[in-house]
Amino acid sequence: MNVRAQITMAMNLDKCIGCHTCSVTCKNVWTNRAGAEYMWWNNVETRPGPGYPRQWEDQNKYNGGWALDGGKLKLKIELTKNYKPPSLKDYYEPWTYDYEALFSDKQTDQQPVARPISLITDEPMDVAYGPNWNDDLAGTDYILEDPNLDGLQREIYAQFKDVFMMYLPRICNHCLNPSCLAACPRKAIYKREEDGIVLIDQNRCRGYRYCVAACPYKKVYYNWKTGKSEKCILCYPSVEAGQPTVCSLTCVGKIRYMGVLLYDADKVLDVAATPDPAQLVRRFIDEVLLDPFDPAVIEAARKNGIPDYWITAAQRSPVYKIVKKWKVGFPLRPEFRVLPMVFYVPPLSPVVTTFEKTYGAQIADIFPKVSELRIPIKYLANMFTGGDTALIESALKKLIAVRIYERAKNVAEPGLADKAKAALAEAG
Ligand code: SF4
Ligand code: SF4
Repeated sequence: MNVRAQITMAMNLDKCIGCHTCSVTCKNVWTNRAGAEYMWWNNVETRPGPGYPRQWEDQNKYNGGWALDGGKLKLKIELTKNYKPPSLKDYYEPWTYDYEALFSDKQTDQQPVARPISLITDEPMDVAYGPNWNDDLAGTDYILEDPNLDGLQREIYAQFKDVFMMYLPRICNHCLNPSCLAACPRKAIYKREEDGIVLIDQNRCRGYRYCVAACPYKKVYYNWKTGKSEKCILCYPSVEAGQPTVCSLTCVGKIRYMGVLLYDADKVLDVAATPDPAQLVRRFIDEVLLDPFDPAVIEAARKNGIPDYWITAAQRSPVYKIVKKWKVGFPLRPEFRVLPMVFYVPPLSPVVTTFEKTYGAQIADIFPKVSELRIPIKYLANMFTGGDTALIESALKKLIAVRIYERAKNVAEPGLADKAKAALAEAG
């Protein structure tokens, strides 16, 4: 066992309200400068939708990430000898509005309109796309680009019936098997030994942008002013001082949990090459991530020079509880084989009072109704568990049981709390 420690994050999507405070505070601190205007190291995208940059999940479009070649991990940009970073239009073309038009237009029957003006060309433009264009279902065509929708959901969306939406905040995942790092011919990208944060050495970077193409999450950005690539640094100056990242600190919904995870570095490549993505997720959680209370793990960690305060931090880590112990947090698009170290608690969609009202005392009956949640389990499974609906269903059951238990303690009939507790035990 080759134990390493990493600082990680888990986000509870049930609590994200899509306010973008995280994105804006991150921008004010890190990317509020020339060449970085279009960059959102932290972005929050509306789903279903094509995301930011548009269609980032389409690995064939950008030739990014890992592929399995004869059972071995190979970079797609090497296999295809072709690399394609997203264009500025894929992120979105920044614009302002022609406010003058509000005052100078001749009076007509219609209200004057401040048309968008491109900040790049200074020309009027039809705003074709933005990272949250799908909030108001502005473009169904864009929604249909979401690869997590299966055939039936696609049809439903196309007819504007029974729609659902959720928010997905994204940062660099500071992966265990980062393809950005592997793709860099200058070895400018490195993963810090002490805490696993993935950084780009600005002195070594020559702006080749292989990393931009190779990151399957499209979380490396090219700065047109400096001619170098940059990315989320997990606010390492704050983390080194024992403080959270800016996005975590300012998150209005308090959805972000930070903590240390211990993992077995010797298992990383083997697990990343697991052919079946659903199996890969289970192996990632069971084999790569380690139990920080296991005496053998503690001994191996000490042998590797991991200080005791990191081991204690791993034992107290909310991310350990969410991902490894309770199994309610999962990696985003695990089939990309980078073993991302940012995890997501899937959202429950309707407020749980709906369940309480409908099913009340027969709390055990709630569980079959998980399949009737507004956000389809299949959609969440496509996004977080390599298609494994059982993992998502089990997590949602636990979340429902906990929420009803907490609520029942305070407001509902006393007996309900006990039943919820029993149901939680049953859900594992
Ligand atoms: Fe690299 Fe992308 Fe992983 Fe971040 S998310 S470590 S940029 S591969
Ligand atoms: Fe979601 Fe928190 Fe960001 Fe608001 S600040 S969009 S609640 S992650």
